[in-house]
Amino acid sequence: MNVAPSPAGRPEHPREVPLIVADDRAGLLKAREALGIGAGASVGGSALALVPTMGALHEGHRSLIRLARQRAAHVAVSVFVNPLQFGPNEDFSRYPRTFDADLEVCAAEEVDLVFAPSVEDMYLPDRQVGVSAGRMGSIVEGEFRPGHLDGMLTVVLKLFNLVQPDVAVFGQKDAQQLAMIRRMVADLNLPVSVVGAPTVREPDGLALSSRNRYLSPEDRVAGLALSRALHAGAGQRTPAEIRRAALAVLAAEPSLAVDYLVLVDPATFTEVGDGHTGEAVLAVAARVGSTRLIDNVTLTLR
Ligand code: AMP
Repeated sequence: MNVAPSPAGRPEHPREVPLIVADDRAGLLKAREALGIGAGASVGGSALALVPTMGALHEGHRSLIRLARQRAAHVAVSVFVNPLQFGPNEDFSRYPRTFDADLEVCAAEEVDLVFAPSVEDMYLPDRQVGVSAGRMGSIVEGEFRPGHLDGMLTVVLKLFNLVQPDVAVFGQKDAQQLAMIRRMVADLNLPVSVVGAPTVREPDGLALSSRNRYLSPEDRVAGLALSRALHAGAGQRTPAEIRRAALAVLAAEPSLAVDYLVLVDPATFTEVGDGHTGEAVLAVAARVGSTRLIDNVTLTLR
């Protein structure tokens, strides 16, 4: 059958080639060959876009996959729960793992390649070298999750080296993660173009997260205070008013344990002063029951 290529070089018709699943470098090289991806970008656009995930895929991930499809002829999704980015008392062992359902989501979204390595595939038992997130890795999220941003950057760099994407898509939901990845790409001259994607929310405002499935109905109601607080802050004018309005909403929800509420520069994640104009990120992290939630919104201050 003849199928017309779309502007990105993708057939307009449903997939005729099955989803390829790889778990190591050899599998990835074979997959690139099967997809006809050579070294470097294809003529007239990017050859491969990567969407890194930890699985338990939801509508937020799906929106990233759709954005990736607009940016490249082929889309790869990685599914890897990265032990390096979890602290000793965090939820690595109970993090949801739903690989079969994830494959179905990827097939439905016409993903070309799923990269799902095991921990042993990814890390040598005596590994020594990793990425340091620098000073930016020890503020805001980094203050409450020491080592998290180092571990996240290390796995993202490894994924870039293994999958060799031209484009990588990350959610604004993890705003400091996105800022740090942009920083790493600039500081280390990585040949990947980073695309940020907007946060997908439930109709009542709760940002989608793989961790939402841990929330009891009561926890979920309490968790709604995060997006409400951001909304209240976004309605104000000055940094002081923004912080005050958002904190007042959080304080009214007694079952939330707030880690931080900050108004920061989107690129550096340092707190903005009262005279700040331009973009700023209002970011919040709080625990409800045994679940930790994060959320943020980008504001323009005049
Ligand atoms: P995770 O699987 O939680 O590590 O997330 C994988 C990617 O999906 C990251 O780039 C996240 O920022 C992004 N993501 C997670 N939740 C959402 C959401 N609600 N909307 C958009 N992107 C999201």
